[in-house]
Formats: sequence, C-alpha cells, structure tokens
Amino acid sequence: MISCNYERMEDKIKTFSRFGDTGKGGITRFSLSEEALAARKEFIKRMEAMGASIVTDDMANIYATIAGTEDLPAIVSGSHMDSVRQGGNYDGILGILTAMEVAETIVSEKIPHRHPITVIVWTNEEGARFEPAMMSSGVICGKFLKETMLASQAKDIPGYTFGEALEKSGYKGKEENRLDPSKTKALVELHIEQGPVLEAEGIDIGVVEGVCGMINYEFTFTGQAGHAGTTPMKYRKDALYAAVKTIQYLHDELDLIDNKLVYTTGKISAHPNIHTIIPDEVKFTLDARHQDPEVIKQVLAVIKKLPSVVEQCKVSYEEAWSRKTVSFTKELVEFVEISAKECGYTNRRIYSGPGHDAQFAIDLVPTTMIFVPSAGGHSHCEIEYTPVENCLKGANVLLNTILHIDKHETIKNETSKKR
Ligand SMILES: [Zn+2]
Repeated sequence: MISCNYERMEDKIKTFSRFGDTGKGGITRFSLSEEALAARKEFIKRMEAMGASIVTDDMANIYATIAGTEDLPAIVSGSHMDSVRQGGNYDGILGILTAMEVAETIVSEKIPHRHPITVIVWTNEEGARFEPAMMSSGVICGKFLKETMLASQAKDIPGYTFGEALEKSGYKGKEENRLDPSKTKALVELHIEQGPVLEAEGIDIGVVEGVCGMINYEFTFTGQAGHAGTTPMKYRKDALYAAVKTIQYLHDELDLIDNKLVYTTGKISAHPNIHTIIPDEVKFTLDARHQDPEVIKQVLAVIKKLPSVVEQCKVSYEEAWSRKTVSFTKELVEFVEISAKECGYTNRRIYSGPGHDAQFAIDLVPTTMIFVPSAGGHSHCEIEYTPVENCLKGANVLLNTILHIDKHETIKNETSKKR
C-alpha cells in the first residue's frame, strides 16, 4: 500500500508553524492577518508546484485543484489555517497539511484518480478575530447572512471590519467559485481530536460519526445587595450563594443522565463584585453537549425542574443558543473506517464535541471527518501536539478514503436530501 511521506509531513508542520510563531511553541495566526496571509502564500506556492489550479471565492476560501483523468465532480479535503490567540500548530492547519500531503503523494507516485482532488482552505473558522466561528462555511452553506458577516468588527483593531480585511487580503474571489454541490462529490476534513479520548485508549484514528448537539443556557439569580458586616445571615438574599447551590444541584442531577454527557459552567459574573457587599445579581452559563437529542431533552428537563426561588433569590434562565446533532454521510464514515483497517491502524467511532466547518458543509455535499489524537487532550493552547507519526497515519487514512471515494460511483447525502 502506498504511504504518504514522513519527512514531507514533518517539513510541512515545521514550515507552517513559523507563520505566527509565538516563540513559545505555539502560534497566533488570526484570520486574514499578516501571518495568515503569509501562510496562504506558502500554501499556494506549494500547491502550484504540484500542478494545482487555484481559485478563491467571495469569502476568500481557497480551492487548489489537481485535475483528475475524467471530467467529474471534485473530492475536497482541507480545513482552516487561522488560530486562536496563542493556539497550537495542529488545530485546523493539520487538515490542510494532510490534504496537501495526500495530493503530493498522488502526484509524485502517479496514483491514478478519475476525480479532481481539491484542497480547501476555509477562511475564519475560529472567529477569534472576527466573530462568529465558522464564518465563511456558514455564509456559503446559508447559515449566516453575508452582509452581517462583512460588518463583523475585528477584536484587535477597533472599527476594522471583516469586509475591509477581505478586500485588503487580495484573496477575495468570485461567488461562482464557492463549494458547489453539482461540482463536488464529497468532502473529508481531517482534524485533531482536541480531547483526550483517542490517546487515553491508545487509538490511532477517530472515525467521526458526527458533531454533538448542544445547548447553552444563561441563568440569572436576583437577590438583595447589603452590607457584609451588618446583615445577619438569616436576612440575606445572597445571589452568589444561590447560584453556587444551583451549580452543585445541576452537577448532581446531570451526572445521573449519561456518562457521555459533557456540561460546563464556563462563565460567571457577580454584581456588584465588591468584597464588602452581598451580591444582588449573579449570572452563569451552562453548556451541555451530547450526540443523542434525547439526552439533551433530559438536560432540559433538569433545568426546567429548578425551583423559581433558591435561598430567597429569584431564579430565571433562558436559552442563549443551541445546535442540533449533525450526522456525517454514512458511506463516507464507512470508507474512513475501512481505510483505517486497511492501513492496520487502531480506530474507533467518535462524535466531535467542538464545531467544525464540515458540520456546515454537509448541508451542501456528502461530508465526513477523520480525527487524530491530541497529546494530553490539549488544544487551543501552545502545548497542543500530535506526533508526526500520528499525523502521517491520519494522512494515510485520508489518502485511502479519497481513493475509495474515487472508485465509488455515487455517494448519497442523506442530509442534503432532507432539505
Ligand atoms: Zn479547528
């Protein structure tokens, strides 16, 4: 079996880790920043050297295509090259580098393929500079209004909009170049797991079945402010104490539901947040994720069971946002699994907790994902790491998956059909 190349894979990872290098093992490479534009330039240089033709669409997504032997829809693979502040060298970029390595292997080994192979670079996946996350795939797949996105303001330069950055980048292309269902056979995105499961279980490849559904609720506790020295305990309406009791209650109840359920209180605020004053208003969030919508319903039932008054404070809550579970294209999931087995790699099926461009792309084209392990489960930080050997295994599974798709006549997209 033909394998991708270890030295080339290592060189790609090393080269791209220079664009936005923080000097502390990670990168800060905000979307359409100088560093990101330098990475794009390197990407295009390398793809052109392989004989790829390059186009960009109106959201500056890049499509670098190696021609197939027949005039058929393209097989697309890639991810994003922007990062969070002080992020790592693998989130997103590895999906591009493995797709590049697959293309390079196909070209250099002269592997016959009927379909064109396109390496895609999505613009602004992280939303770290311009909100929201997955902006460009969202626009193309009809999730976000383009005009609203163009007006999104940069967090690093006051008043600077995404639209201005797009114009200035030199990568704004034509709307007609967007990912097009009639010209695309399938899309496969490789990504790091960003969690500890694969490594802990000694698994090489995550066969991703879909992206977990999630809900995000904001809770508000209203009490009464008072002097910390003069108000006896029994007269207090301490909103922070009420919130703490509720967080504990939620943990106790949610732990009983399902061991795959993950939930987080990641944001909390107390008013007036002064050490001599009893807090009168406290807000916190609850983010809960699971692949099964029935489990999410049970989380909601726990929330709805909350009393309206806790420790004499008024309790209210509202949904901030939610996301339905996304299931990837069955046939493609099976191709990934078969490919991992053929390569002799250990693998398991897994759902993604984080969101990815692929979850929007499936509304347009048959789509799936491949995960490789994240050392220690770390991601969105400078110590994010996946050994080259694991990256190469991911690239090999991607290569074989693409070759399976190439031989297959049609791929049914259950999700597109439902629309
Ligand atoms: Zn990512």
